[in-house]
Amino acid sequence: MNKIEHIGIAVKDIQASNKIFTDVLGVAPYKQEAVESEGVLTSFFKTGENKIELLQATREDSAIAKFLEKNKEGIHHIAFDVSDINAEIKRLMGLGYKMIHETPKDGADNKLIAFLHPKDSNDVLIELCQEKPL
Ligand code: ZN
Repeated sequence: MNKIEHIGIAVKDIQASNKIFTDVLGVAPYKQEAVESEGVLTSFFKTGENKIELLQATREDSAIAKFLEKNKEGIHHIAFDVSDINAEIKRLMGLGYKMIHETPKDGADNKLIAFLHPKDSNDVLIELCQEKPL
């Protein structure tokens, strides 16, 4: 695993949260993107090397909607940049970890992504992400 790629924050109202994070970070989101397959609307902020992803559910069956039924708004996942997502999935499964996605899928911001099952990682939801090859 390389650096932390971004931190994902679950929010109820992405427009209101965009304002809060624009105020706090001093920069506007550089991208807003809907990910239909996940039922989410995302906003990305960049400060220096660091990225924050805000996530709002667009459907009731979205993972973010389910998260917000059980939890308050707040940190939802930590994403790590990986050079070879297939190799990382294979490595972790070989160590006995359960993946939510055993094959990478398209994520926001031009990434291939896969989530590790949080029951195996102290209830911290971990996302692997690899920049999509051009
Ligand atoms: Zn993410």
